[in-house]
Amino acid sequence: MTESLEIRVAQFAGFCWGVERALEIARQAAASAPKPVRSLGPLIHNPGVIRDLAGQGIEVADRAEDILSGTAIIRSHGVQHQVLEDLRTRAINVLDATCIFVKAAQEKAARLREQGYLVMILGEPAHPEVLAIRSYAGADALVVEGPEDVPAKLSKVRVGLVVQTTQAPERLAALVAAVAPRVRELRVYNTICSATEQRQRAAVEVAGAVDVVVVVGGRNSGNTTRLADLCRAVQPRTYHVESAKEIRGEWLAGSAKVGVTAGASTPQEQIDAVVQRIRELRP
Ligand code: SF4
Repeated sequence: MTESLEIRVAQFAGFCWGVERALEIARQAAASAPKPVRSLGPLIHNPGVIRDLAGQGIEVADRAEDILSGTAIIRSHGVQHQVLEDLRTRAINVLDATCIFVKAAQEKAARLREQGYLVMILGEPAHPEVLAIRSYAGADALVVEGPEDVPAKLSKVRVGLVVQTTQAPERLAALVAAVAPRVRELRVYNTICSATEQRQRAAVEVAGAVDVVVVVGGRNSGNTTRLADLCRAVQPRTYHVESAKEIRGEWLAGSAKVGVTAGASTPQEQIDAVVQRIRELRP
């Protein structure tokens, strides 16, 4: 007789506070904001949720210039301040769902610039959140992914550092250690969001205690892909799926414990559906 399977869901999995809020703003906009309602870029990196939003009448506009009337929702990553101003100048109804943690990084960057610091941003240069923070940081701002990107000569002796919310604390520590000895003053704002770290820590914990891990979330979601990579390093039998129907019975063969986790852009219903599917395949 086959023993029944134990399913462990990570303690922190699925939507973070900022994504919940953006979706709530979108739901309210669908009901009562001036139409048409568009999000500037996909509201979250989850194809199922984007389809649901489209069903409620919320389409995605890739560029601000494509929004000519109605309402624009700014997603939790935020957007460059020039884009916000452009939309408002054109009398578009703007609903700003920028996450408060991203907003804090933008505000710190702006204050550092006003106070005459050279602003350094630790993050991925092409990521929308980083592009938005940079727009507040002044023309001479630097975006670096680690100590190796810091130029040999810095234009100012006072440097202010802010961080993309999803960066790992170890990367920040390495950058601080490399820059501090080279400048007269280094002011550091740790703007890393704990939601990402909590999800990563919880995922690794689960991966270490099970035979198979299923990670749920969009393949275009950076934070879900990173979760899958971290789990795979601990448990090679890790599978990244976008939906429950992708799970195959043979993945679970011979296993006694299966772990389930999900990135910050995965709704609870998708996590529940995955747990349900695993139970159906291995009751
Ligand atoms: S991961 Fe953190 S910073 Fe990003 S939207 Fe969620 S709560 Fe906000």
